Amino acid sequence: MYNADIMEDDIAKVIISSGEIAERVSAMADEMVQTYGQPDEGITIVTVLAGSLVFLSDLIRRLPLRMRIALVTASSYAGKATTAGKIHLESTTLPDLRNRNVLIVDDIVETGGTLRLVQAAVRRLCPRRIRTAVLLRKTTKAPSDVPIDFVGFDIGDDFVVGYGLDYDGLYRNLPFIAVLKPEMYNAESAL
Ligand code: 5GP
Ligand code: MG
Repeated sequence: MYNADIMEDDIAKVIISSGEIAERVSAMADEMVQTYGQPDEGITIVTVLAGSLVFLSDLIRRLPLRMRIALVTASSYAGKATTAGKIHLESTTLPDLRNRNVLIVDDIVETGGTLRLVQAAVRRLCPRRIRTAVLLRKTTKAPSDVPIDFVGFDIGDDFVVGYGLDYDGLYRNLPFIAVLKPEMYNAESAL
């Protein structure tokens, strides 16, 4: 176990507990097995790093499907920012996706800018079918032109950390989703 005090002192509120996450990730995996569970039908997961790494690792161990995993890196929140800047896809070395069943996995969708880029990069490689899964969706900004097939939780507008999501590179290892105390955000860099 990690030393709870060190990071929990920085937290204003836990909004989704680790138990709730575990239950919901299992349910999402069941939905995916229903969707993909044809005999011999494998999938290729394209995951958006780094925020999705905890979600991905829990999810794939609940998915008894033949799968390959490809990684892309996208960054929109540079350093201490809590509002998205220009989005970059930093590594787009995707495998051959022609005729594959692709499942894009991301941590959170807010404006949809990141997933729009990833979906377009995947679409260029002529997969058979693209579906997209996110653990979290910020409902107030959820875009209508970026289709999301599997959603873990709808949340409010707050900037959240934990379970893979960071602030300035920190807090990814918290086992729950939380909001930090306001004084933890560097107001100057957040602009
Ligand atoms: P979008 O491109 O949909 O506006 O934003 C998606 C990306 O922004 C996510 O993949 C994530 O990296 C980052 N992001 C959006 N909201 C949050 C948040 O509340 N907390 C953290 N840590 N990252 C976020
Ligand atoms: Mg991300």
